[in-house]
Amino acid sequence: MKMKKTYGYAKLEEIIEPSSDRVAAPCPVARQCGGCTLQEMSYPAQLRFKENIVRNDLRRIGGFKEELLREVLEPIVGMDEPFRYRNKMQFPVGYVKAQNGGEYLAAGFYAARTHSLIPITDCLLGAEENREIISRLLVWMEQEENRPYDEESGLGCIRHILIRKGFHTGEILVCLVVSEPIHGGEALRDALFDIPGMTSVSLNFNSERTNVILGEKTVTLWGKPTITDSIGDVRFEISPQSFFQVNPVQTEKLYGKALAFAALTGKETVWDLYCGIGTISLFLARRSAKVYGVEVVPQAIRDAKRNAAVNGIENAEFFVGKAEEKFLPGEPDVVVLDPPRKGCDAKLLRRILETQPDRIVDVSCDPATLSRDLKLLCEEHYALRRAVPVDMFPETRHVETVVCLSKGDVKSKKIRVEFSLEDMDTDGFKKGATYNAIRDWIKEKYGYRVTNLNIAQVKQKHGIIERENYNKPKSPESKQSGCTSESPISEADLNATNDMPPTKGRGRYICEEKI
Ligand code: SAH
Repeated sequence: MKMKKTYGYAKLEEIIEPSSDRVAAPCPVARQCGGCTLQEMSYPAQLRFKENIVRNDLRRIGGFKEELLREVLEPIVGMDEPFRYRNKMQFPVGYVKAQNGGEYLAAGFYAARTHSLIPITDCLLGAEENREIISRLLVWMEQEENRPYDEESGLGCIRHILIRKGFHTGEILVCLVVSEPIHGGEALRDALFDIPGMTSVSLNFNSERTNVILGEKTVTLWGKPTITDSIGDVRFEISPQSFFQVNPVQTEKLYGKALAFAALTGKETVWDLYCGIGTISLFLARRSAKVYGVEVVPQAIRDAKRNAAVNGIENAEFFVGKAEEKFLPGEPDVVVLDPPRKGCDAKLLRRILETQPDRIVDVSCDPATLSRDLKLLCEEHYALRRAVPVDMFPETRHVETVVCLSKGDVKSKKIRVEFSLEDMDTDGFKKGATYNAIRDWIKEKYGYRVTNLNIAQVKQKHGIIERENYNKPKSPESKQSGCTSESPISEADLNATNDMPPTKGRGRYICEEKI
């Protein structure tokens, strides 16, 4: 159909021999509708396909070796049931040509890359209740003579039907997007209120000639203005406008991975950049000392603050602004990134490299931009430790990935450097080696950066008496990574000799760099 420099577009004409991965699409309009591009692929094949996209991008764009990927890339997290996972649907309404030449009122989706409406009574990605809600609304529109909005002429009233469902609570919200006041508000309430779970019926006014779905103003007609749902142990109040992850089952798995990768002990300072309504921030806040969230959309930050209050979370602080401008090179232990498709701003990545948090957790909806960003981070200071694709959108080609980076360029959990003062040329020192001399020597000999506090802690731990050169941290608040209780130095460690310089004489120092 169309040729580009290195690839072309083609149209399927005929299937001569079907692939063993080909299945019949359960949805009758799967081909016409622009939504599910992979419905004719079996679900295990979809998962393999997406895992491959991530692996290839990490290799080709990120420059990571196949050998490393075999070690760090975990199998994709799929769904047990890859249909009916969406908690939010937005159906445009309009007239559709009937076979007898007339036309009839319908709700549905636009065909791929067009604005021609394909009637759909039951989208298999959405909740089952949608079917009943749509059919009652279409009857109500005809009875009350509310015409669908026509994009071309700008005439008519009903633009979209927005339906949200709290999967944990069963609460349902219906919002009709209209261009002008409706006829029969009371009849609308009567048509919907007895559907099990119905919690909120509202109107949203949008009279602009735009394809943005929602307008500014929403009026509740029946019930509450919001529904409630939860991700993990955090509750969220969701209005028609709120951003909320659309696949709550997989979101919980995705954020569970992010949480595991952040390896929080309760003492950490975490920055959640591109935080949206603070879903990840609040998820992490209960397990860390302090979370800072940064997001460019003010409404989302208002929601984040409200959600923190609803959950009684007091150690999360949120800022409106660009991540690349608000992120302060202080001393965060963990940075979490969840950027939009275009990935992270290069300025932000440079700031992160200056700050050097212990761990970086990157959640991404585009493996190509993720790989580009990781390449930059891993060229300096950081190494890719774990990566896992998560299938947030079965039946579509989209795939989410979460990765964990930490400092250092070797794979072992602990770098151990042993040396004795006799290894060093201490002639130049009157009273023996200073901490700075030890630090510089380790850096030069092994390429690892250890802090003075590291050296002191190791000495204390092994009962080596401090001398007058002992360096204390500059202020009681300042944090420096040291020996962790998870990685104590055992007798066996002390005696291990692999790749270590021979130890001579007294005063053996062991420095660990936490990675
Ligand atoms: N983690 C969030 C969703 C992140 S989606 C949640 O679960 O709610 C990416 C977010 O990045 C969007 O909310 C978008 O508004 C925001 N964003 C885009 N560019 C940004 C920038 N330069 N700085 C901060 N936030 C940005």
